[in-house]
Amino acid sequence: MFTIDNYVMAENLEEAYSLNQNRRNVILGGTMWLRLGRKKIGKAIDLSSLGLNNIEEDDEKFTIGCMCTLRNIETNKSLNKYFNGIIAKSVNNIVGVQLRNGATIGGTLFSRFGFSDVLTALLSLDTYVNLYKGGIVPLSDFVNMPLDNDILINVIIKKDSRRASYLTHRKSSSDLPVLACAVSNYDGEWNVVLGARPMKAKLINIKKNYNLTKDDVVEEMLEIIKQNIGFGSNYRGSGKYRQILAEVLVRRNIDEIISGGNHGN
Ligand SMILES: Cc1cc2nc3c(=O)[nH]c(=O)nc-3n(C[C@H](O)[C@H](O)[C@H](O)COP(=O)(O)OP(=O)(O)OC[C@H]3O[C@@H](n4cnc5c(N)ncnc54)[C@H](O)[C@@H]3O)c2cc1C
Repeated sequence: MFTIDNYVMAENLEEAYSLNQNRRNVILGGTMWLRLGRKKIGKAIDLSSLGLNNIEEDDEKFTIGCMCTLRNIETNKSLNKYFNGIIAKSVNNIVGVQLRNGATIGGTLFSRFGFSDVLTALLSLDTYVNLYKGGIVPLSDFVNMPLDNDILINVIIKKDSRRASYLTHRKSSSDLPVLACAVSNYDGEWNVVLGARPMKAKLINIKKNYNLTKDDVVEEMLEIIKQNIGFGSNYRGSGKYRQILAEVLVRRNIDEIISGGNHGN
Protein backbone atom coordinates (compact mmCIF):
# COMPACT_ATOMS: atom_id res chain seq x y z
CA MET A 1 0.00 0.00 0.00
CA PHE A 2 1.36 3.46 -0.87
CA THR A 3 1.32 6.44 1.48
CA ILE A 4 0.61 10.07 0.58
CA ASP A 5 1.85 13.11 2.54
CA ASN A 6 -0.09 15.74 0.56
CA TYR A 7 -2.88 15.64 -1.97
CA VAL A 8 -3.13 18.32 -4.69
CA MET A 9 -6.08 18.77 -7.04
CA ALA A 10 -4.22 20.32 -10.00
CA GLU A 11 -5.80 23.53 -11.34
CA ASN A 12 -4.05 23.28 -14.69
CA LEU A 13 -1.55 21.10 -16.55
CA GLU A 14 1.38 23.49 -15.97
CA GLU A 15 0.89 23.17 -12.21
CA ALA A 16 0.61 19.37 -12.48
CA TYR A 17 3.72 19.18 -14.67
CA SER A 18 5.88 21.35 -12.46
CA LEU A 19 4.85 19.42 -9.30
CA ASN A 20 5.60 16.17 -11.13
CA GLN A 21 9.26 17.18 -11.67
CA ASN A 22 9.94 16.41 -7.99
CA ARG A 23 10.82 12.69 -7.74
CA ARG A 24 8.69 12.22 -4.59
CA ASN A 25 5.53 13.50 -6.31
CA VAL A 26 3.27 11.32 -8.43
CA ILE A 27 0.47 11.82 -10.96
CA LEU A 28 -2.59 9.79 -9.98
CA GLY A 29 -4.44 7.83 -12.62
CA GLY A 30 -6.98 5.41 -11.21
CA THR A 31 -4.32 4.27 -8.64
CA MET A 32 -5.15 0.61 -9.32
CA TRP A 33 -1.51 -0.16 -10.05
CA LEU A 34 0.04 2.40 -7.68
CA ARG A 35 -1.77 0.89 -4.70
CA LEU A 36 -0.01 -2.45 -5.26
CA GLY A 37 3.34 -0.72 -4.52
CA ARG A 38 4.83 0.74 -1.36
CA LYS A 39 5.79 4.16 -2.64
CA LYS A 40 5.98 7.00 -0.12
CA ILE A 41 4.44 9.78 -2.15
CA GLY A 42 5.18 13.41 -1.28
CA LYS A 43 2.43 15.13 -3.28
CA ALA A 44 -0.23 13.07 -5.02
CA ILE A 45 -1.28 15.06 -8.11
CA ASP A 46 -4.91 14.57 -9.13
CA LEU A 47 -5.89 15.53 -12.72
CA SER A 48 -9.61 14.87 -12.13
CA SER A 49 -10.74 18.50 -12.37
CA LEU A 50 -9.08 19.17 -15.76
CA GLY A 51 -11.86 17.80 -17.97
CA LEU A 52 -9.74 14.90 -19.21
CA ASN A 53 -12.37 12.20 -18.72
CA ASN A 54 -14.13 12.46 -22.10
CA ILE A 55 -13.97 10.55 -25.37
CA GLU A 56 -14.32 13.09 -28.18
CA GLU A 57 -14.85 12.33 -31.84
CA ASP A 58 -14.60 14.27 -35.10
CA ASP A 59 -14.45 13.18 -38.74
CA GLU A 60 -10.82 12.15 -38.52
CA LYS A 61 -10.13 10.86 -35.04
CA PHE A 62 -11.08 9.87 -31.52
CA THR A 63 -9.46 11.81 -28.67
CA ILE A 64 -9.52 9.97 -25.36
CA GLY A 65 -8.70 12.00 -22.23
CA CYS A 66 -6.13 10.39 -19.93
CA MET A 67 -8.62 10.09 -17.05
CA CYS A 68 -11.06 7.98 -19.10
CA THR A 69 -11.34 4.57 -17.51
CA LEU A 70 -10.88 1.27 -19.30
CA ARG A 71 -14.60 0.74 -18.75
CA ASN A 72 -15.33 4.03 -20.58
CA ILE A 73 -13.43 2.83 -23.64
CA GLU A 74 -14.93 -0.65 -23.41
CA THR A 75 -18.50 0.65 -23.46
CA ASN A 76 -18.14 3.57 -25.90
CA LYS A 77 -20.33 2.57 -28.86
CA SER A 78 -18.77 4.95 -31.43
CA LEU A 79 -15.24 3.86 -30.66
CA ASN A 80 -16.10 0.19 -30.89
CA LYS A 81 -17.91 0.54 -34.20
CA TYR A 82 -14.40 0.91 -35.63
CA PHE A 83 -11.63 -1.68 -36.01
CA ASN A 84 -13.97 -4.66 -35.48
CA GLY A 85 -14.38 -3.65 -31.85
CA ILE A 86 -10.83 -4.62 -30.85
CA ILE A 87 -10.58 -1.87 -28.27
CA ALA A 88 -13.38 -3.40 -26.18
CA LYS A 89 -12.01 -6.89 -26.86
CA SER A 90 -8.59 -5.86 -25.54
CA VAL A 91 -9.92 -4.72 -22.17
CA ASN A 92 -12.68 -7.13 -21.34
CA ASN A 93 -10.36 -9.76 -19.83
CA ILE A 94 -8.70 -7.23 -17.54
CA VAL A 95 -9.72 -8.51 -14.10
CA GLY A 96 -13.34 -7.34 -13.77
CA VAL A 97 -15.66 -4.37 -14.24
CA GLN A 98 -14.77 -2.95 -10.82
CA LEU A 99 -11.07 -2.64 -11.72
CA ARG A 100 -11.86 -1.39 -15.22
CA ASN A 101 -14.06 1.32 -13.68
CA GLY A 102 -10.97 2.63 -11.89
CA ALA A 103 -7.95 2.00 -14.13
CA THR A 104 -7.34 4.87 -16.58
CA ILE A 105 -6.04 4.96 -20.13
CA GLY A 106 -3.42 7.53 -19.03
CA GLY A 107 -2.00 5.29 -16.28
CA THR A 108 -2.15 2.30 -18.62
CA LEU A 109 -0.28 3.76 -21.59
CA PHE A 110 2.14 5.93 -19.63
CA SER A 111 3.33 2.85 -17.71
CA ARG A 112 4.03 0.86 -20.92
CA PHE A 113 3.63 -2.44 -19.08
CA GLY A 114 5.05 -5.49 -20.87
CA PHE A 115 1.82 -7.38 -20.21
CA SER A 116 -0.50 -4.63 -21.44
CA ASP A 117 -3.48 -5.74 -23.51
CA VAL A 118 -4.46 -2.17 -24.39
CA LEU A 119 -0.98 -1.21 -25.55
CA THR A 120 -0.88 -4.29 -27.80
CA ALA A 121 -4.26 -3.52 -29.39
CA LEU A 122 -3.67 0.23 -29.84
CA LEU A 123 -0.28 -0.36 -31.50
CA SER A 124 -2.08 -2.11 -34.36
CA LEU A 125 -4.07 1.10 -35.02
CA ASP A 126 -2.97 4.59 -36.08
CA THR A 127 -2.53 5.78 -32.48
CA TYR A 128 -0.71 8.75 -30.93
CA VAL A 129 -0.18 10.03 -27.41
CA ASN A 130 -0.32 13.74 -26.62
CA LEU A 131 2.29 14.59 -23.99
CA TYR A 132 2.33 17.91 -22.13
CA LYS A 133 5.99 18.66 -22.94
CA GLY A 134 6.72 16.01 -25.55
CA GLY A 135 3.82 16.90 -27.89
CA ILE A 136 2.08 14.40 -30.13
CA VAL A 137 4.12 11.21 -30.54
CA PRO A 138 3.17 8.02 -32.43
CA LEU A 139 2.44 5.24 -29.92
CA SER A 140 4.95 3.06 -31.79
CA ASP A 141 7.71 5.56 -30.80
CA PHE A 142 6.36 6.26 -27.31
CA VAL A 143 6.45 2.57 -26.40
CA ASN A 144 10.26 2.62 -26.68
CA MET A 145 10.86 5.98 -25.02
CA PRO A 146 12.28 5.95 -21.47
CA LEU A 147 9.93 6.68 -18.56
CA ASP A 148 10.15 10.36 -17.61
CA ASN A 149 8.13 12.97 -15.70
CA ASP A 150 5.94 14.17 -18.55
CA ILE A 151 2.13 13.98 -18.45
CA LEU A 152 0.07 12.01 -20.92
CA ILE A 153 -2.86 14.33 -21.68
CA ASN A 154 -4.81 12.25 -24.16
CA VAL A 155 -4.68 9.45 -26.70
CA ILE A 156 -5.52 10.05 -30.35
CA ILE A 157 -6.76 7.24 -32.58
CA LYS A 158 -7.10 8.14 -36.26
CA LYS A 159 -10.25 6.86 -37.91
CA ASP A 160 -9.76 4.65 -40.93
CA SER A 161 -11.42 1.59 -42.36
CA ARG A 162 -8.80 -0.90 -41.22
CA ARG A 163 -9.89 -4.35 -40.19
CA ALA A 164 -8.44 -5.63 -36.98
CA SER A 165 -8.45 -8.65 -34.73
CA TYR A 166 -7.25 -9.25 -31.16
CA LEU A 167 -6.60 -12.49 -29.29
CA THR A 168 -4.78 -13.50 -26.13
CA HIS A 169 -3.83 -16.69 -24.41
CA ARG A 170 -4.36 -16.67 -20.62
CA LYS A 171 -4.13 -19.37 -18.00
CA SER A 172 -7.46 -18.17 -16.63
CA SER A 173 -9.80 -15.58 -18.07
CA SER A 174 -8.86 -12.68 -15.78
CA ASP A 175 -5.15 -13.45 -15.34
CA LEU A 176 -2.44 -11.42 -17.10
CA PRO A 177 -1.95 -12.67 -20.66
CA VAL A 178 0.70 -15.30 -21.43
CA LEU A 179 0.74 -13.76 -24.91
CA ALA A 180 -1.31 -11.03 -26.60
CA CYS A 181 -1.64 -10.56 -30.34
CA ALA A 182 -3.28 -7.84 -32.45
CA VAL A 183 -3.31 -7.77 -36.24
CA SER A 184 -4.72 -5.09 -38.52
CA ASN A 185 -4.93 -4.62 -42.25
CA TYR A 186 -5.35 -1.33 -44.06
CA ASP A 187 -4.83 -0.75 -47.73
CA GLY A 188 -2.43 -3.66 -48.23
CA GLU A 189 -0.47 -2.82 -45.09
CA TRP A 190 -0.38 -5.32 -42.23
CA ASN A 191 0.40 -4.47 -38.62
CA VAL A 192 1.20 -7.44 -36.43
CA VAL A 193 1.71 -6.72 -32.72
CA LEU A 194 2.83 -9.23 -30.12
CA GLY A 195 2.59 -8.22 -26.46
CA ALA A 196 3.21 -9.93 -23.12
CA ARG A 197 6.24 -11.65 -24.72
CA PRO A 198 6.68 -11.02 -21.67
CA MET A 199 8.54 -7.88 -22.78
CA LYS A 200 6.82 -4.78 -24.16
CA ALA A 201 4.57 -5.15 -27.17
CA LYS A 202 6.40 -5.10 -30.48
CA LEU A 203 4.92 -3.95 -33.78
CA ILE A 204 5.93 -5.34 -37.16
CA ASN A 205 4.67 -3.46 -40.18
CA ILE A 206 4.51 -5.51 -43.37
CA LYS A 207 3.85 -3.44 -46.46
CA LYS A 208 2.93 -6.07 -49.01
CA ASN A 209 -0.24 -6.33 -50.95
CA TYR A 210 -0.53 -10.04 -50.21
CA ASN A 211 -3.33 -12.13 -51.49
CA LEU A 212 -3.79 -13.66 -48.07
CA THR A 213 -6.21 -16.33 -49.09
CA LYS A 214 -3.14 -18.48 -49.86
CA ASP A 215 -1.67 -20.41 -46.94
CA ASP A 216 1.87 -20.08 -48.22
CA VAL A 217 1.67 -16.29 -47.98
CA VAL A 218 0.55 -16.55 -44.34
CA GLU A 219 3.61 -18.77 -43.85
CA GLU A 220 5.79 -16.05 -45.37
CA MET A 221 4.36 -13.51 -42.93
CA LEU A 222 4.98 -15.87 -40.02
CA GLU A 223 8.61 -16.22 -41.15
CA ILE A 224 9.05 -12.41 -41.19
CA ILE A 225 7.60 -12.26 -37.67
CA LYS A 226 9.84 -15.09 -36.47
CA GLN A 227 12.92 -13.22 -37.73
CA ASN A 228 11.91 -9.96 -36.07
CA ILE A 229 10.19 -10.71 -32.76
CA GLY A 230 11.88 -12.43 -29.83
CA PHE A 231 10.17 -14.12 -26.88
CA GLY A 232 11.28 -14.46 -23.26
CA SER A 233 10.43 -16.78 -20.40
CA ASN A 234 8.78 -16.19 -17.04
CA TYR A 235 6.66 -18.29 -14.69
CA ARG A 236 3.67 -18.02 -17.07
CA GLY A 237 5.49 -19.69 -19.94
CA SER A 238 8.78 -20.25 -21.74
CA GLY A 239 9.98 -18.32 -24.76
CA LYS A 240 9.55 -21.46 -26.87
CA TYR A 241 5.94 -21.86 -25.73
CA ARG A 242 5.24 -18.21 -26.53
CA GLN A 243 6.77 -18.64 -30.00
CA ILE A 244 4.34 -21.52 -30.69
CA LEU A 245 1.40 -19.53 -29.30
CA ALA A 246 2.40 -16.53 -31.44
CA GLU A 247 2.13 -18.54 -34.64
CA VAL A 248 -1.33 -19.78 -33.67
CA LEU A 249 -2.66 -16.37 -32.60
CA VAL A 250 -1.22 -14.56 -35.65
CA ARG A 251 -2.73 -17.16 -37.99
CA ARG A 252 -6.14 -16.97 -36.27
CA ASN A 253 -6.15 -13.17 -36.34
CA ILE A 254 -5.25 -13.10 -40.03
CA ASP A 255 -7.95 -15.69 -40.72
CA GLU A 256 -10.49 -13.60 -38.86
CA ILE A 257 -9.58 -10.47 -40.81
CA ILE A 258 -9.76 -12.24 -44.15
CA SER A 259 -12.90 -14.25 -43.48
CA GLY A 260 -14.69 -11.73 -41.28
CA GLY A 261 -15.24 -14.67 -38.94
CA ASN A 262 -14.78 -14.83 -35.19
CA HIS A 263 -12.45 -17.18 -33.38
CA GLY A 264 -13.44 -15.93 -29.95
CA ASN A 265 -10.68 -15.69 -27.35
C1 LIG B 1 -4.60 -6.59 -10.16
C2 LIG B 1 -4.37 -6.00 -11.51
C3 LIG B 1 -4.46 -6.81 -12.65
C4 LIG B 1 -4.25 -6.26 -13.91
N1 LIG B 1 -4.37 -7.07 -15.03
C5 LIG B 1 -4.16 -6.54 -16.25
C6 LIG B 1 -4.30 -7.34 -17.44
O1 LIG B 1 -4.61 -8.52 -17.41
N2 LIG B 1 -4.05 -6.75 -18.64
C7 LIG B 1 -3.69 -5.42 -18.75
O2 LIG B 1 -3.48 -4.96 -19.85
N3 LIG B 1 -3.58 -4.65 -17.65
C8 LIG B 1 -3.80 -5.17 -16.42
N4 LIG B 1 -3.67 -4.38 -15.31
C9 LIG B 1 -3.21 -2.98 -15.48
C10 LIG B 1 -4.39 -2.01 -15.58
O3 LIG B 1 -5.12 -2.30 -16.73
C11 LIG B 1 -3.89 -0.55 -15.67
O4 LIG B 1 -3.05 -0.45 -16.80
C12 LIG B 1 -3.11 -0.13 -14.45
O5 LIG B 1 -3.90 -0.30 -13.30
C13 LIG B 1 -2.65 1.35 -14.55
O6 LIG B 1 -3.73 2.22 -14.64
P1 LIG B 1 -4.11 3.15 -13.39
O7 LIG B 1 -5.10 4.17 -13.88
O8 LIG B 1 -4.49 2.31 -12.24
O9 LIG B 1 -2.71 3.90 -13.12
P2 LIG B 1 -2.07 4.37 -11.72
O10 LIG B 1 -1.86 3.20 -10.82
O11 LIG B 1 -2.85 5.52 -11.16
O12 LIG B 1 -0.68 4.93 -12.27
C14 LIG B 1 0.29 4.09 -12.84
C15 LIG B 1 1.51 4.94 -13.20
O13 LIG B 1 1.20 5.84 -14.26
C16 LIG B 1 1.42 7.20 -13.86
N5 LIG B 1 0.35 8.00 -14.49
C17 LIG B 1 -0.99 7.84 -14.34
N6 LIG B 1 -1.65 8.68 -15.16
C18 LIG B 1 -0.71 9.39 -15.82
C19 LIG B 1 -0.76 10.42 -16.81
N7 LIG B 1 -1.91 10.88 -17.32
N8 LIG B 1 0.41 10.93 -17.26
C20 LIG B 1 1.60 10.47 -16.78
N9 LIG B 1 1.72 9.51 -15.85
C21 LIG B 1 0.57 8.96 -15.39
C22 LIG B 1 1.38 7.19 -12.35
O14 LIG B 1 2.12 8.27 -11.80
C23 LIG B 1 1.99 5.84 -12.04
O15 LIG B 1 3.39 5.93 -12.11
C24 LIG B 1 -3.91 -4.88 -14.04
C25 LIG B 1 -3.85 -4.06 -12.91
C26 LIG B 1 -4.07 -4.61 -11.65
C27 LIG B 1 -4.00 -3.68 -10.46
